[in-house]
Amino acid sequence: MVGGGPVGVCCALESAQAGARVTLLEREPEVCPPVSGAYANCGLLAPSDATPLAAPGVLGQGLKWMLDSSSPFFIAPRPSPALMRWLLLFRAACSRERTRAAAPVLRTLHVASARLHDDLAAVDGARWGFHHTGELRVFETTAALEAAREDVELGASLGFGIRVEEMDGEHARRLFPSLRCDLAGALFFPEDGHLDPRRFVRSVARLATEAGAEVRARAEALSLGLHGGAVRVQTTQGTFDADQVVLAAGAWTPFLTNSLGLRLPIEPAKGYSVDVDRPTDFPETPLYLGDAQVVLTPLDDALRLGSTLELSGWDMRVRPRRVARLREAAGRAIGIPADGPVRQLWRGPRPLTPDGLPVIARVPGRERVILATGHCMLGLSLAPITGRLVAELAGGKQPSIDLSPLSARRWR
Ligand SMILES: Cc1cc2nc3c(=O)[nH]c(=O)nc-3n(C[C@H](O)[C@H](O)[C@H](O)COP(=O)(O)OP(=O)(O)OC[C@H]3O[C@@H](n4cnc5c(N)ncnc54)[C@H](O)[C@@H]3O)c2cc1C
Repeated sequence: MVGGGPVGVCCALESAQAGARVTLLEREPEVCPPVSGAYANCGLLAPSDATPLAAPGVLGQGLKWMLDSSSPFFIAPRPSPALMRWLLLFRAACSRERTRAAAPVLRTLHVASARLHDDLAAVDGARWGFHHTGELRVFETTAALEAAREDVELGASLGFGIRVEEMDGEHARRLFPSLRCDLAGALFFPEDGHLDPRRFVRSVARLATEAGAEVRARAEALSLGLHGGAVRVQTTQGTFDADQVVLAAGAWTPFLTNSLGLRLPIEPAKGYSVDVDRPTDFPETPLYLGDAQVVLTPLDDALRLGSTLELSGWDMRVRPRRVARLREAAGRAIGIPADGPVRQLWRGPRPLTPDGLPVIARVPGRERVILATGHCMLGLSLAPITGRLVAELAGGKQPSIDLSPLSARRWR
C-alpha cells in the first residue's frame, strides 16, 4: 500500500484482516500527516451527500465564483494542460444524465461505508470521537434552500431513501440555540455522523498493525515498475517487491501513475479549516451553512470551521481572504468573533476527479497495481468501503459492489 491517509489505512486493515501480507508506505514521519488531505478535514460522514460535485447547477455557479478568490469554489487561472483537461472533463460530467448516473454509485458506496464505519466504531469509536448524531444544514436564502431541496428530490427520484427532516428557522434554533442569522429554512439529516479524522486514521493504522500489517513511516514511493512476476517499488527506504501494489496516495497518486503511462485526471483541490474554542451551547451535531458552504464540526472542546475548494495546483499557500471568509461566515451564523483566538489553521489537498467519483480499479495493462484514490470531498466517509473493495479485488474475489463506474478507463 502506498499512502497513510484514511483510504490507505482502511485498505491495509481490510487486506490484513483478509489474510494478506501488507506493508504500508507513508512518506511522512507518521500516518495522517499535516500535509495530507485528511489531517484536519471537517470530519463529516455524510451518506446523505450523494450528489456528485459535477452537477448541472455547479457549472453556472462555478463560473461566477471561479475568479473570486474569496468564493467557496475558486480556480487560480494558469496555463496548465492538466487543468484544461480536467475542466473539459468536468464540464462533460456536469450534464443531468451523467449526474443521475453517478449519484446512485455514490449512494451505494456511502450506505455500505456508513455500515462499516458503525462496525469500526463499535470496536473503539470513542478513540476517534465518533458520533452518529446527524447533521443540520441551514439556509439564509430561499435560493440556497431550493438548491438543497433539489438534491433531496434527485435522491428521492432515484429511490435513495435518504432520511431528511425539513424545519423552519425557529425549530432549527431550538436545536442550535446559538444560531443568530435569519433562516429561510433548514434540513436535518439523521443518517450523518462525524469524527476526528486524525485520530481515526491513526487508530485504524494501529488496528491494521494489530491485524499483521507493517506500517513504514518516512518511506516515500518514488517509482513503480514490473520486475519478473512482481511489482518493484523504489522508495526512499530501498526497493520493495510485491505481488500487488495499492496506490492510495490521495492527490499525489498521479505522480506515481505517470511512471506507468497512466495520466489520471486528479487535481489537488485545496481546502481550509480553522479550529476555535467550541461555544458551550454548540450541540454534538455538525452544522452546515448552506449559503457560505461552510461546515462547523464539534470535536471535543474545539469547533472546526471548514470548507472552500481551490484549484491552484500545488500552490499550498494560505490565502488570508479565504480564511477570513470562513471565520466571517461562522461569526454571522453563531456569533463566534471573527478575530478571536485560533487553535489551529490548516489546509490540505483533496484528490479531485472531474466526475466526483473515486477510482477503485486495477491499472489498465498493469493489473498488479490497484488504484484507490480520487475521493474528492468524501475520502473519510468512503474510506472503509474502499478498503473492503480493494481487499476483495486484491484477494481475487468478486467485488461486493460493481466497480465498472469507478474504472480508470472512463477517461480514455
Ligand atoms: C478542508 C477539507 C475538508 C474535508 N472534509 C471532509 C469531510 O468532512 N468528510 C470527508 O469524507 N472528506 C472530507 N475531505 C476530503 C478528504 O479529506 C479526502 O478525500 C481524503 O483525505 C482522501 O484520502 P486519501 O487517503 O486518498 O488521501 P490523503 O488523506 O491525502 O492521504 C494520502 C497520503 O499519502 C501519502 N503519500 C503521498 N505520496 C506518497 C508517496 N509517494 N509515498 C508514500 N506516501 C505518500 C501522503 O503523505 C498522505 O499521508 C475534506 C478535505 C479537505 C481539504
